[in-house]
Amino acid sequence: MTAASTGALFGAQCAVVGPLARRFAADGQRLYLVGGVVRDVLLGRIGDHSDFDLTTDAPPDRIRRLIEGVADAVWLQGEKFGTIGARLGAHTFEITTHRAEAYLSDSRKPVVSFSTRLEDDLLRRDFTVNAMAFDVVDETLHDPLGGQADLDARLLRTPLAPEESFSDDPLRTLRAARFLAGYELTAAPGLLEAAGSVAERLRIVSAERIRDELWRLFALPDPGVGFAFLDEARLLPLLLPEVSDRSVEQRAEAFRRSVAAEPVPEVRLAALLLEMPAPELDGRLRALRLSGEQRTKVLGLVSAVGRVRERTDDGWSDEAVRRLAASAGDQLAATVALATAAGVATGILQTRLGALRADGELDDLGPALGGAEVIDLLGLEPGPDVGEALAWLADLRFGEGRLDPDEEGRRLVAWWEGR
Ligand code: ATP
Ligand code: MG
Repeated sequence: MTAASTGALFGAQCAVVGPLARRFAADGQRLYLVGGVVRDVLLGRIGDHSDFDLTTDAPPDRIRRLIEGVADAVWLQGEKFGTIGARLGAHTFEITTHRAEAYLSDSRKPVVSFSTRLEDDLLRRDFTVNAMAFDVVDETLHDPLGGQADLDARLLRTPLAPEESFSDDPLRTLRAARFLAGYELTAAPGLLEAAGSVAERLRIVSAERIRDELWRLFALPDPGVGFAFLDEARLLPLLLPEVSDRSVEQRAEAFRRSVAAEPVPEVRLAALLLEMPAPELDGRLRALRLSGEQRTKVLGLVSAVGRVRERTDDGWSDEAVRRLAASAGDQLAATVALATAAGVATGILQTRLGALRADGELDDLGPALGGAEVIDLLGLEPGPDVGEALAWLADLRFGEGRLDPDEEGRRLVAWWEGR
């Protein structure tokens, strides 16, 4: 691709970033688009990106001075690492002073040193395809490490020797899995071996960074190649030992199940860990630093799939189907899909679900009467009796389906009087 046609690809980005970049230029500084956005534009993959990563030779205090006054909001949390965040209209910008950092061998934190040379900054990035910068003022692509050629050859390569790069920041091994899978790239020679050789060093990476990177892998349309990379590089024992401990066939089965699942991280993770008993599963999810909401979702899915698995096909009475639907809630479709992918016969379940859904039965699985009506009908004071009566009504609803409110009320009174 010629320089001119490359420049033309960045029209939309130039329009957004141009005014800010010219402000930097007027002050004798340079501001470049860098990293993922450059890669994605070159691949023609860019959609409506509204976040821009930028790098500049200006030191952090100067970035601050240059954007204060034009930005609608400014974030300074990253300032000591060289990053100033800003929002201008509908767009957010993360502007980082060029960095040339080296990692101390056993520290968890990088030593940050700023640089005025763009090349230093690009060299410390994870992969050549992520190490390109675009100057929106003179419309020049800066690609000293051959990222564009690697993109064309679909090659994932580190700027430095892979052992050195992965050892500097072992999280890059997980990022490798994500980019291989997400961009249909091939690992450069030695990349897999290098990832394997630093596997143990993943222990120095914070669980939060690992979780965030795994989450991005799980969200891909097809993470299969990434799973295989993590498995072959023997990174899996440090991430998901319960999966890596299984036989080759069982691992392949878990990966296949997860790939077939919806591209929702919690669902993908549940698919990998379906066999785990609840307490151990919860322990693993906590170790992975999932939020309470994320844990609830994964645990709920795994237990719902367990309930589907326990029933034989003819065990699917309407009541059993309603109870499953109520407990699975908005995870019902994911539950059935996961159970099916796990080899459970769900044909009859799906037929019964379809029939109940067509009758509108699954729209609302609660009783028609609420607490206030129960109090009224039975002449109760608020208290445990009301809870008991509501629980009885819920059972009635599961057992017999939707009743009209008058009928429900008559049944309730009859039960209450006959207790
Ligand atoms: P995506 O489009 O999925 O966000 P991305 O390439 O933008 O992918 P980010 O995690 O947003 O990935 O990182 C932005 C850029 O920062 C990368 O393109 C890369 O240049 C650099 N980078 C991010 N993480 C690392 C790392 N661990 N080591 C080196 N460089 C990194
Ligand atoms: Mg990004």
